[in-house]
Amino acid sequence: MKTREEILQMVENEDVEFIRLQFTDMFGTLKNVAVTATQLQYMKDNRYLIDGSCMYGELRTGEEDMYLCPDLDTFVILPWRPQQGKVARLLCDVCRADGTPLAVSPREILKKTIEKVEKEGYTFQIDPECEFFLFHEDENGVPTTVTHEKAGYMDISPLDLGENARRDMVMTLEDMGFEIESSHHEKAPGQHEIDFRYAGAMETADRIVTFKTAVRSIAKRFGLYATFMPKPKAGTAGSGMHINISLFQNGKNIFSDPEAEDGLSQEAKWFMGGVMAHVKGMCAVTNPLVNSYKRLTSGCDAPRDIIWTTKNHNTLLRIPFMRGEDTRIELRFPDPSANAYLTIALCMAAGLDGIAKHLDPGAESARLFASRTEAEKAAAGIDHLPDTLREAVAFMEEDSFVKMVLGQEFVDLYVEAKKAEWNEYMSQVSEWEVDKYLYRT
Ligand code: GLU
Ligand code: MG
Ligand code: MG
Repeated sequence: MKTREEILQMVENEDVEFIRLQFTDMFGTLKNVAVTATQLQYMKDNRYLIDGSCMYGELRTGEEDMYLCPDLDTFVILPWRPQQGKVARLLCDVCRADGTPLAVSPREILKKTIEKVEKEGYTFQIDPECEFFLFHEDENGVPTTVTHEKAGYMDISPLDLGENARRDMVMTLEDMGFEIESSHHEKAPGQHEIDFRYAGAMETADRIVTFKTAVRSIAKRFGLYATFMPKPKAGTAGSGMHINISLFQNGKNIFSDPEAEDGLSQEAKWFMGGVMAHVKGMCAVTNPLVNSYKRLTSGCDAPRDIIWTTKNHNTLLRIPFMRGEDTRIELRFPDPSANAYLTIALCMAAGLDGIAKHLDPGAESARLFASRTEAEKAAAGIDHLPDTLREAVAFMEEDSFVKMVLGQEFVDLYVEAKKAEWNEYMSQVSEWEVDKYLYRT
C-alpha cells in the first residue's frame, strides 16, 4: 500500500503537473476531474468533493455532494500525455457526503464481492481478452466505420495496417505496469485483440478501464478511432471480452483434478453450473447495449446457447486445454462495452453460488452442437441467452441472485435506465426498415 507521502514525493520527482481523479459511473463509463499537484497537497484526508450526480449517467437529476477517495495504489503516469508537466491518474472510490461508500458505485460492488469471496477462503485469477476495432477518422476527425485493411485472423503486415498502432499500445501499457501476454489481428478487417496476464479481481477490473483509455488515446495518434462497440458492422465478427477464470483455495487451483478423466474437478463443473444458472439475469450487465445482442445472435464465433465444452472454441463456456495449476474456465459471453467491475463481480459470485449449491452444468456439448436445429436444442433442454436488451432486462428484474450481488438500489436504477435506452431504440425507424418496406407497401 502506497502512502500519501510517497505519492507526493513521486509527483515532485516526476514533474507531475496534473492528477486525474478517475472513477466509473454506474454504467462503467470512466469519468474524471483533474486537480493540480498543489491541490493534491491540500487533500490531507485523501478525499475530494465533487458533484456526484454524474454517477447516475442519464438518470442524473440535481446535484449531490460526494467525495472521491483515491486508491493510492493506482497511481500511474499517463505516458501519452506531455512528458514535461506530466499527467498522472488515481482511480477513486466514491463516498456520500457523510462518508458512507456509495452503494451503486461499481468499484464498491466489486470490493464487497471480493470481501465475501475472501471470507469464504477463495482467491481468483482473472485474465481478460479484449477485442476492439480500429477505424479511420474522416477529415474532421469524426470516427467512421471505414477500414482500408483486408487482414484477418492473426495476419501480419502489410495486410495488417493496425500493426504499428498495436505495437505502441502494448509498449505504452507495459510502461504503465501491465504485463501483456500477446496481441494479434482478429478475424474482421480492422479488428484487433490484446490479452493481458492474469491478476486479482480488482486489479483486472482497474486494468480494463485503463486499457480502454490507453488504446483510444494511442489509436488517435495514428489517425484511427478505437471502438469497443460489440458489433460495429453487420455480417462480420463482433468484439468480445472473454474472461478467463482460475479459482484457488490455500494456494491450489481447485478447478484441477489430475485423477479425473478430463482433468477437471467437481468444483469446476459446479462453477460452470452456477454461471449457466445465472447468466440470463447477468446479461444486462455483461452485454449492456442494444447492440450487444446483435453480436450474440449473429454467430461469428459469439456464443448464444447456454452450454460448455472442452473442445469447441465458440461456446458460452470453454475449458482451454491446459490442466493442473493452469486450469481455467473461459467465459465467452461478455463484451467489451460491459462494466468491468460488475462483470467480474457477477462472474465470480455466480460461479461460487454454483459451488455452494452443487449446480450441475450437464454433460459437455458435442463439437457439432452448433449444427443442431432450434427444435433439436429445445428437445435436448438447451436454453439460450436473451435475444435482445429488453429480454435481458426482464431476466435481470426477476433474478434475486443478481439483485443480491449488485444491490436492489443499483438494479432498480439500472433497469430504469436500460428500459429508457430500449424505448429510445424502438422509437427509431432504421435504414433497414425503409429499404425493406418502403416499396413493398
Ligand atoms: N470475436 C468473437 C466474439 O465475439 C471471438 C473470437 C475469438 O474466439 O477470439 O466473441
Ligand atoms: Mg479473440
Ligand atoms: Mg478467447
